[in-house]
Amino acid sequence: MQANQRRTKILATLGPATDAPDVLDNLFRAGVNVVRLNFSHGDPSGQAKRAAAVRAAAQRVGAEVGILADLPGPKIRIEKFAEGKVALKTGNRFDLVADPDFPDGDATQVGVSYLGLPGDVKHGDVLLLDDGLMQLCVERVEGERIVTTVLNDGMLSNRKGLNKQGGGLSLGALTERDKELIGIVAGIGVDFIAVSFCRNAEDMNEARRIARSHGCDAALVSKIERTEAIENLTEIIDASDVVMVARGDLGVEIGDAELPGLQKKIIKESLARNRVVITATQMLQSMVESPIPTRAEVLDVANAVIDGTDAVMLSAETAAGAYPVKAVEAMARICLGAEKQFETDTDFEKAPRNLERADQAIAMAAMFLSEHIGLRAVVAMTESGGTARYLSRFRSSAPIYAFSRHDGARRRMALMRDVFPIAFDSRGLAPREAAREALRVLHDRSALATGDRVIFTSGDHMEKHGATNTLRLLQVGSEGKAEGLGEL
Ligand code: PGA
Ligand code: MN
Repeated sequence: MQANQRRTKILATLGPATDAPDVLDNLFRAGVNVVRLNFSHGDPSGQAKRAAAVRAAAQRVGAEVGILADLPGPKIRIEKFAEGKVALKTGNRFDLVADPDFPDGDATQVGVSYLGLPGDVKHGDVLLLDDGLMQLCVERVEGERIVTTVLNDGMLSNRKGLNKQGGGLSLGALTERDKELIGIVAGIGVDFIAVSFCRNAEDMNEARRIARSHGCDAALVSKIERTEAIENLTEIIDASDVVMVARGDLGVEIGDAELPGLQKKIIKESLARNRVVITATQMLQSMVESPIPTRAEVLDVANAVIDGTDAVMLSAETAAGAYPVKAVEAMARICLGAEKQFETDTDFEKAPRNLERADQAIAMAAMFLSEHIGLRAVVAMTESGGTARYLSRFRSSAPIYAFSRHDGARRRMALMRDVFPIAFDSRGLAPREAAREALRVLHDRSALATGDRVIFTSGDHMEKHGATNTLRLLQVGSEGKAEGLGEL
């Protein structure tokens, strides 16, 4: 553990490319903090096997790695073609047929899984397939058949996704399949559950209720990827633990030109509302095939770091790419470089005044002091990870070492920028003893040196969630002993 550790976290999607032997170990050595299991692909039993492999590899490497289960959501897809794929030509007619038993398609028509689609479209609507690579203009609806004109030449293959430009497809967010999957991922013991295409706070609340009813304490992640979610952004953020800027589908629905502004807005709002935020999709897309990123990709990852994101995500780059480990190494390197350019906002004038919770108040005080008395680190005893989350929203220059005895809490904290989770059981220790022990652990790991000043936060009742109510100023004495900081 060194002073110049990377602060921004890396989320990597697993897939066929990460199933080969040793790949997981190498991904974790390269710095992956959380993995994503994408339940849109593969069957649940395959994903459960991956989850078990992740836990085993993390143990071998000695890393705290969280697991995020990404629910498929109501992604509308075309069905299959007799030939697997077809070539479409500009100006030709191509029909989408909402019929579950429709035969395999050809270059004139294909089936669609969502039966409500004909009721959601009208003349002039533009339908985007395969993340916008193929565009169709709706001419008219004839019963279950949507007659369209092809707007660009291109290939279309089986089961590609379909969106409407400008949004407005009425399908609900949590499908019956998603609800069933929440039960399955609860059984797997995942740390995060992501709700795809959520529309409002109620979608998030419903997912949370189902997860809790299965005894699952996973953090809930809202994926912001449709027009309705932008309209309801604040309530969705408040109903989530983590927010994802899902640039793939969002760019398709709302137009790519809106993405830079929306990314900045979602990151800023999430931090202001004490939530963790992920920036996702096509960050190092060219590395699916190439061992080095393009300059534009380097700048994109760096700009997300400078925007203040907690984590950056890799999708096909790790799940199906030729260079999964190199992609993580590139990401780690770019984050570290960008963090040097990141200017911490030390202006506490704008900080919230109406603090509702003791741990939030302690976090605020700790970060104010950390900027004004030259601290090396903040050391937090935390049960649920709540204190670490409040501390890390300030994006201070001091690292946050978060000590918790709960595996789940440490893995959820693995996604938070500036936070380094450490396994530690404080039961039976008075806060003063816990402080002494924690500083000694950090000294032994070379995270702290003699003379370093730290802030230590804890609760009188350290085994209770949200009980942090104490802040101590300490200095590391010789051999890592904690000493009270008398004079500054
Ligand atoms: P997906 O979500 O990869 O599951 O589609 C992320 C996005 O849309 O950007
Ligand atoms: Mn998506």
